Amino acid sequence: MASRVMAIAAHPGDCLFTMGAQVALAIHQGGAGVFVSLTLGEKGSPRNIPVREYGEMQRAASRKAARMLGADFELLTWPDAEIPLKDEVSLAVCDLIRGHKPDTVITHWSGSWHKDHQNCHIIVRDALFYAGLATMARQDPPHNAGRVYYAENWEDDSNFQPDTYLDISPVYEKWLQACDVYPMWRGQTGFFRYHDYYSSLAVMRGCLSNFRQAVALMSDPTQRTRRLQEFR
Ligand SMILES: [Zn+2]
Repeated sequence: MASRVMAIAAHPGDCLFTMGAQVALAIHQGGAGVFVSLTLGEKGSPRNIPVREYGEMQRAASRKAARMLGADFELLTWPDAEIPLKDEVSLAVCDLIRGHKPDTVITHWSGSWHKDHQNCHIIVRDALFYAGLATMARQDPPHNAGRVYYAENWEDDSNFQPDTYLDISPVYEKWLQACDVYPMWRGQTGFFRYHDYYSSLAVMRGCLSNFRQAVALMSDPTQRTRRLQEFR
């Protein structure tokens, strides 16, 4: 059955670079995909571009990238670098989960040096809880999102232990093209070589999983238990 995937990140770049191939694959297979970014990532601006202007560039890039992949993009606008760890944010994400009804959610792993990424991890955990809580009255009825995976991200590398490999070879090129609409993808705004890192990482993960290109995912520890009545 085709998946409905929701990718939730602190910044639009995290959505596309670390979760975009998974979303693209779900759509390619006849499912649906939606990106959610908690901020516009506006403070990643290089010095010669004002923060507000850079935020609008990020918004335009996100819309274009989503269009290229056939995905939706929900751009929330909490301040970059200052995502508050509040129920208000978790409830906004809860409402998006109830509205889009994903069966798979991908987000940041908690082992990050970046405070926005750490907060996003906790916010999504709470949002999933609220989304499924039958007694929590919101506009839409409750929805249990099913599987939760954490994406491989160079900034969230502490104790990241992948247990799942996803073959992204059918959408690899298309995904890279969508990433390329972001002003930071080729290192224009800082030192990090996103294109080189993530395009190579997919090849490396493909080598380990015997796919041409792959992404590695980490299941939520609470979802690793398997219940069997026979070995298979
Ligand atoms: Zn980020």
